[in-house]
Amino acid sequence: KRKIAVLTSGGDAPGLNACINAVVRTAIYYNYSVLGVRDGYEGLITGRVMKLDLTDVNDIIHLGGTILKTSRSEQFKIKEGRFLAYEQLKQKDIDHLIVIGGDGSLKGTSIFSKEYNDISIIGIPKTIDNDISGTDYSIGYDTALNTAVSAVDKLRDTAESHNRIFIVEVMGRDAGYIAYGTGLATGAEGILIPETHMDHVYLLDNLRRNWHEKRSSLILIVAEGDETGGARRVAEEITNYLGNKEIRISILGHIQRGGSPTAFDRILATQLGNMAVTFLNKGAKNVMVGFQRQEIITIPLKDVGRRSMSLNEKALKLLEIMTS
Ligand code: ATP
Repeated sequence: KRKIAVLTSGGDAPGLNACINAVVRTAIYYNYSVLGVRDGYEGLITGRVMKLDLTDVNDIIHLGGTILKTSRSEQFKIKEGRFLAYEQLKQKDIDHLIVIGGDGSLKGTSIFSKEYNDISIIGIPKTIDNDISGTDYSIGYDTALNTAVSAVDKLRDTAESHNRIFIVEVMGRDAGYIAYGTGLATGAEGILIPETHMDHVYLLDNLRRNWHEKRSSLILIVAEGDETGGARRVAEEITNYLGNKEIRISILGHIQRGGSPTAFDRILATQLGNMAVTFLNKGAKNVMVGFQRQEIITIPLKDVGRRSMSLNEKALKLLEIMTS
């Protein structure tokens, strides 16, 4: 029987198990046997694989995390490490590999595919940050966004009760997707994301005006990362500017990575996992499957990279009006 190996790599994201489920079911449907690689590239290098059957994926679609575990691997970044991974695949007679990972993992896969052309590889995009090019959505983003929204709703209750300003820092590295979405969905009075390179003075004036007019709670959503300075730096600026002592900081952190995936993420993960195997079965190799305009498409792995959010004029206007 032909074999497909599947692994999850990089930071975890909700929806990985739904994707593994789809890969396994589709592969078995097309008469492949499936091997799950433990701990991402680390497990590939050391040959930690296990056979996956339907019974292994029953009832995992709703679970956060990844049954295969994940890791970051320094060794896979060097040629010798990748050679060991190749040797393991050859030894085990595997020539199809599916990597569910972020842009770093997919970059690694692209390098690996150039070095060893006899392995067919398909990448599947996952990251709560949604910053992988070539796909409108990546697995995990929708759940992380919903987690952040429900957390901010709760913070609004306490902010409102005490007339406080809350600065809420959400994940997103250098991309503002989670911050922008959370801000819009919670009616935040301010949204600070890397892509707008927003003038802090404008933001502070806006907050001051809001504060004077409402004299109630204010919520400011800040994306983590250098560009915005993060919640602590913004809090200092606001304190200096407004002289207000009732500022609280909430850094949502890793809760955004966990939890049961939303219906959207489960369906996206299922479609991507299914099409990864379907394309592989049709002879595709060295591509990433992506979701663009309601279609599952493929793009060459070598073209996959990081993207930042593109905010057109309409999106910026919306931001301005909703926070004013
Ligand atoms: P996320 O950013 O969502 O956590 P990611 O896949 O981008 O996911 P990274 O830590 O960037 O996470 O990459 C995961 C692993 O992919 C790395 O630990 C490394 O093993 C491999 N990798 C990343 N970049 C490269 C590269 N340029 N060459 C080879 N391997 C790489």
